[in-house]
Amino acid sequence: MLKENLLSVKNKIETACKKTGRNVDEITLIAVSKTKPLSDIEELIAYGTMEFGENKVQELVDKYENVSTPVNWHLIGHLQTNKVKYIVDKACLIHSVDSLKLAKEIEKEAVKKNVIANILVQVNVANEDSKFGLESGEVFDLVESISKLSNIKIKGLMTIAPFVENPEGNRGYFRQLKQLSLDIKSKNIDNVDMSILSMGMTNDYEVAIEEGATMVRVGTGIFGERNYNL
Ligand SMILES: *Cc1c(COP(=O)(O)O)cnc(C)c1O
Repeated sequence: MLKENLLSVKNKIETACKKTGRNVDEITLIAVSKTKPLSDIEELIAYGTMEFGENKVQELVDKYENVSTPVNWHLIGHLQTNKVKYIVDKACLIHSVDSLKLAKEIEKEAVKKNVIANILVQVNVANEDSKFGLESGEVFDLVESISKLSNIKIKGLMTIAPFVENPEGNRGYFRQLKQLSLDIKSKNIDNVDMSILSMGMTNDYEVAIEEGATMVRVGTGIFGERNYNL
């Protein structure tokens, strides 16, 4: 099942790339393994998957410590400042930075552990009340402030688009995030690159790729439905 799902997702990524003249090598598929057992992760590793996404710090740390092969762990969920110390040296990329307070805590822990923390700034492009992330208009100032921190490297932007039945409904939001990343890139801020655009989930990753995503975060499409009551 996992094998077929993974192949199907990869095929769809390829189709979306062809449609828009992009190279599949530009796209990183993150298998979002939250709530899923280590056995599923091990199986995907056997099929060559090396990028996994988790939204909870504790779950990421548990899986990081117990997996048989070292892989790359992405923290994609909201991060509380008091938990930064547990993951700053374990996550290859923190997708969810949305305040200077959080960035300063990441900086503090990264200095302590002598690592460079790679991060994305999370943008709430659709301005949904229920979502974390900055409004588009606040992003530039935060990026500029974070760029001055020595042990943080800003690699790009991330968004969680609204849940929609028809993924076309999110195309405009993906386009806005891409434009925002181009605007920031054009300012040539030291210590900031805008090479990563993390957008698109099971329901809308193909549209996100057509609009410039370089990382897509796919859970259900690979692992099947999640059961939060386990
Ligand atoms: C759960 C989650 C995903 C994956 O969602 P699916 O719809 O199952 O693909 C992607 N990004 C974030 C931030 C998530 O929390």
